[in-house]
Amino acid sequence: MKELVVISGKGGTGKTSIAAAFASLAPKAVIADCDVDAADLHLVLGPAIKEESDFSGGREAAVIPDRCTACGKCAEMCRFDAITLDGPANEGVGKTYAVDPISCEGCRVCVEFCPADAISFEPAINGKWFVSDTRFGPMVHARLGIAEENSGKLVTLIRKKAKELAEKESKDMLLCDGSPGTGCPVIASIVGADLVLIVTEPTLSGRHDLERVARLTANFGIKTLICINKADINPEVSDMIESEARENGLKVVGRIPYDEAFTKAQIMKATLTEYTSGAIAENIKTMWREIIYELG
Ligand code: SF4
Ligand code: SF4
Repeated sequence: MKELVVISGKGGTGKTSIAAAFASLAPKAVIADCDVDAADLHLVLGPAIKEESDFSGGREAAVIPDRCTACGKCAEMCRFDAITLDGPANEGVGKTYAVDPISCEGCRVCVEFCPADAISFEPAINGKWFVSDTRFGPMVHARLGIAEENSGKLVTLIRKKAKELAEKESKDMLLCDGSPGTGCPVIASIVGADLVLIVTEPTLSGRHDLERVARLTANFGIKTLICINKADINPEVSDMIESEARENGLKVVGRIPYDEAFTKAQIMKATLTEYTSGAIAENIKTMWREIIYELG
C-alpha cells in the first residue's frame, strides 16, 4: 500500500479541491482528511458516518468542589494562571477554586501540590474522529473542539486508523489531504509517507512558502512533487518556481490554470472531475497519471 499526502505552504491554495479530485480518480484508496484545523474535505465528499470516537490529546485538571478547602495553593503553583477562586461553595467555604480548561496546559503541578487531594486529572476530550463511507470509498476524518491545539496528535491518529482500514480492506492506496504550513500538524501528516504533492500558487509569498515546506519534506527524505495552481495568473513566477524546483531535483507535475470551476464545484459539493469534463478536469487527470507513475 502506498501513501500520497497533498500539502501546501499555506491554506487557500486549492489543495483540498485537488485532493478531492484525486479521491474520485483513486478507486482503491482510503481517504484521510489530515487537515484537522480546517477540515473541508467532508464538504465535498459528504461522508456517511459509520463509527465515531472521542479524541483525547492529553489530560486536564479539574477541582472537585466538595473537597476543596480554598487554601489557594494550586493557584499559587500554576504557572499558566489557569486556576482562580471561581468555583461553587461547599460546606466549609463560600467559594472554591476552579480550573479554566482553555488555559490549563495539563502539567499536573496542581494535582501534586493540592493538600486535600481535590484535583482530578482525567483525559480531556479534544475532539472526535470518524470512519465514514463516501461515494469514492472509505474515509477517516475528524473534528477538533473549539480552541483545541492537539492537532498533531490527532493527525497521527487519523493516519494510523486510515492505514489500518486500508490494510483491513485490502486497499492499495492511502490518500491524505494534509495540513498546510510547516508546523507540527504538517509534520504529523507527512512522516513516513511515500510521496508528497505540494500545491502552491505563483505569488512571491507562495514561492517562499513552497521553499520552506519543500525543505521540510527534504529533511524527512520524502519524495516530493509540485503542482502550481493558478499558474497563468503570474507565468513569470510560475517559470521561476519550476526552474528552482528543477535545480532542487523536484518535479513540477502540474500547472493548473486559474479556473472558476474550483469555487463552483465546491458550491455544488462536487469534485472538479465530477463538476466538469473540460480542460481543468483533463489537466488534473494528466497530473494524477504522473503521480501514479512517480508513486511506483
Ligand atoms: S490546592 Fe486543593 S484544596 Fe487548595 S485551593 Fe487548590 S484545589 Fe482547593
Ligand atoms: S495542570 Fe498545570 S496548567 Fe493545569 S491547572 Fe494544574 S498547574 Fe495549572
